[in-house]
Amino acid sequence: QLYNQVQDLKGSIRVYCRVRPFLQGQSDGVSTVDHIGENGNIMIVHPHKQGRDARKVFSFNKVFGTNATQQQIYADTQSLIRSVLDGFNVCIFAYGQTGSGKTYTMSGPDLTAEDSWGVNYRALQDLFQISKSRVDLIEYDIGVQMIEIYNEQLNGLNVPDACLVQVNCTQDVLDLMRVGLKNRAVGATALNERSSRSHSILTIHVQGKELISGSILRGCLHLVDLAGSERVDKSEAIGERLKEAQHINKSLSALGDVISALAQKSAHIPYRNSKLTQVLQDSLGGHAKTLMFVHINPESNAIGETISTLKFAERVA
Ligand code: ADP
Ligand code: MG
Repeated sequence: QLYNQVQDLKGSIRVYCRVRPFLQGQSDGVSTVDHIGENGNIMIVHPHKQGRDARKVFSFNKVFGTNATQQQIYADTQSLIRSVLDGFNVCIFAYGQTGSGKTYTMSGPDLTAEDSWGVNYRALQDLFQISKSRVDLIEYDIGVQMIEIYNEQLNGLNVPDACLVQVNCTQDVLDLMRVGLKNRAVGATALNERSSRSHSILTIHVQGKELISGSILRGCLHLVDLAGSERVDKSEAIGERLKEAQHINKSLSALGDVISALAQKSAHIPYRNSKLTQVLQDSLGGHAKTLMFVHINPESNAIGETISTLKFAERVA
């Protein structure tokens, strides 16, 4: 029994790496990604180093290159997401420096184009579809909650009524987000700016009642678009900006500590060191499952952040 639990735990943390393509009109086109192997290896080449020191290999469960589609990304995430309907708790994180593709992976570039949808909307679509197909056996209730953590403070997206809203289809959620964003009373640019310095969490709560036995199962899926992981130059940042940077550093390293403690089956898991890990405590560890997408910007001038992102990821893998 115990042996099984330990095995489960080991298999319950996954790390996927995604390399975003060069954007139009951007940079010299020299990529720091030298090679992507079959078995989850990625070889990084340092633009300013020579010889043996120039190349370094990092290993993950999977690496997606610049050609990977939103559909392919979801295909490798789907089974994890579907397990929520069987009563598992799941956390999916997007980690990386600002501009590396976190929001692209989680939400997608254009909500009006279904083809481009990211993990969030594909997950909702999938969960609704499967729950409806099981209607003869299990009656599911699905609710969503959107929160933001900014400077170690928790804010609910300003949707009317309660924080937890019952929904019946993906369109309900899209409508809800539109209302929520509007109520925040900030312009699109300000929102973008701020979103890079806050963690945003979309939580999907599922409750299923088995019609024959009457027993209840509960699962939840947390989809987390993390604040940008870039180090802010302490000599340059002052006031509000410095405070934000310190809060982000603190919470991302607390998250790294929790996940690596779980991966090492440590007796003490330091959940209490940040708001983020406190909020997600019930869904990190135990029987819960975790997937971390780490994002790479392949431009040569991002090499410093790329290396530190890959080191962070390797620590939790
Ligand atoms: P982040 O959320 O990490 O700050 P974004 O998701 O906003 O980064 O991505 C930055 C830019 O790169 C956006 O213009 C986005 O559309 C583009 N982008 C990111 N990932 C991809 C990708 N896999 N394919 C195409 N464009 C991408
Ligand atoms: Mg973003």
